[in-house]
Amino acid sequence: AKESGRGNRQFYVSSMDASALDVLQQERQLREAIAHNHFVLHYQPQICLADGTLQGLEALVRWRHPERGLVGPDEFITFSESRGLITPIGRWVMREACRQLKAWQDQGLALVPMAVNFSALEFRQRDVAAEIAAVLLETGLAPQYLEIELTESVLMHQTGQVLGTLNALKALGVGISIDDFGTGYSSLAYLKRYPIDKLKIDRSFVADTPGNSDDVAIVTAIIQMGRSLQLKTVAEGVETQAQIDLLAGLGCDLMQGFVVAMPMDGETARVWLTNHGVE
Ligand code: C2E
Ligand code: CA
Ligand code: CA
Ligand code: CA
Repeated sequence: AKESGRGNRQFYVSSMDASALDVLQQERQLREAIAHNHFVLHYQPQICLADGTLQGLEALVRWRHPERGLVGPDEFITFSESRGLITPIGRWVMREACRQLKAWQDQGLALVPMAVNFSALEFRQRDVAAEIAAVLLETGLAPQYLEIELTESVLMHQTGQVLGTLNALKALGVGISIDDFGTGYSSLAYLKRYPIDKLKIDRSFVADTPGNSDDVAIVTAIIQMGRSLQLKTVAEGVETQAQIDLLAGLGCDLMQGFVVAMPMDGETARVWLTNHGVE
């Protein structure tokens, strides 16, 4: 309902009705949240399918809203982009994710990379490589412990600039993953052109496996292509043992999903890492 409402709101802005006021109020609240850092990161583990070891964490942002409680990113990331507010949020996320991982590493809890999501707009508007280099210096996190997750749409635009940024990140030692793989443009040429490390198989392909044979075929094809191109594959949204069995049998490298753990707040993740993270 939220998704379909967005277009309507834009349409009504000129008439200043309730929907336009809605937009203004949400924008005001978001600016306030940015000014006071009213955001929090939750963390979801990535696990090796072959042996169950921890291989990574993904940082997922939430808005600590004064009245609505925790608000998920699907409800404010696109809106932030449309109001020019994504940059300060993205910067906070990057710094906080690096700070938290470094703190856990200092406690001997997580010698694995932290994945941070970037939207296409962020990637185009900012000098992401320089910014990341500065945050790594500031937090003391080693570059090989940071991964960035991009969607396919990033790779389809402004090839020169994107290629420059990705090569700079690569040179720095930062990992690069393609998020929601298979849901974007169908051109696969970018897998050759860009220095990519991982493909994250979108949850929509995993959800109905093993029952849906079309989805099994798609997941199989992505895993095989990943292996041929020497890219690690990560299955997203894994919820059942039957999915684990399928993915392990197909040679998928990593998984992430509720069957392992939901995204957890910092304290819950610390406890989880204490119990699972150390080999
Ligand atoms: P995503 O990067 O594809 O993240 C995975 C989403 O799937 C997360 O939703 C996660 O909570 C959810 N998920 C994980 N395991 C399962 C499962 O087993 N079953 C189901 N049904 N869902 C699962 P979340 O946290 O609401 O994030 C939604 C999207 O918001 C993310 O999709 C990502 O595109 C975006 N996002 C999150 N954090 C950030 C951020 O810091 N910056 C930017 N630009 N985007 C972000
Ligand atoms: Ca992601
Ligand atoms: Ca994803
Ligand atoms: Ca997604």
